[in-house]
Amino acid sequence: LNQMLILNTILCIIITLAIIMIVLIMIRRNQLRIEKFASTDQLTRLINRNAFDFVFQQVILDSERTREPLCVALMDIDHFKKINDQHGHLIGDHVLREIAMITKRSLRESDITCRWGGEEFLILLKNCSLEKSASIAETLRSTIEANDFSRTTDLAKGKLAITVSIGVAQYVHKELEDGVFERADTALYQAKDSGRNCVYFAE
Ligand code: GH3
Ligand code: MG
Ligand code: MG
Repeated sequence: LNQMLILNTILCIIITLAIIMIVLIMIRRNQLRIEKFASTDQLTRLINRNAFDFVFQQVILDSERTREPLCVALMDIDHFKKINDQHGHLIGDHVLREIAMITKRSLRESDITCRWGGEEFLILLKNCSLEKSASIAETLRSTIEANDFSRTTDLAKGKLAITVSIGVAQYVHKELEDGVFERADTALYQAKDSGRNCVYFAE
């Protein structure tokens, strides 16, 4: 009888521990899902601005430590309002998704693309000089220009061409982090001012 009691107690403890473990694993899994959801832009599946702020802090620390150059490219779709007006919001959304895809495909695995705002994307180019970053941005710009956005959707009738303008800036060590975004923004506005569909960089 005594042996039975001991065996039962041990069995009880094992079952209780197993249940606790399963519950903890489920909670953790759910937590990761919620975190992923909160940091992802639902339309493009890129990281959103909130998540980007955190990532950028880490990337700056890395870049300070390794002394490697770090650049940002701010990309804005040209006359996107017209695209929505002429073709409808659904096509607008399709264009945003496709541009996100083209951008990811064009960059290195280690580069980070974020949906910065409505039709603006921010690209973080790690260990990349200003010159190289401007050339990568130019390649991306021309890839987007050459792409027929109607090919991947049944919604559009006829060819659908889109262009983007891009402003590129390099992070200066120890500067306030907003500085680099302001310079990229200024470069982007120069690109818009000079007729769009081009890349400008801030010296
Ligand atoms: P510019 O060349 O000067 O950048 O002109 P623009 O028309 O692209 O710029 P503007 O800021 O006037 O318009 C941006 C438009 O982007 C307006 C807004 O409706 C559209 N937009 C923003 N977010 C989304 C989205 O998630 N889906 C769709 N379909 N449109 C969006
Ligand atoms: Mg804009
Ligand atoms: Mg725009």
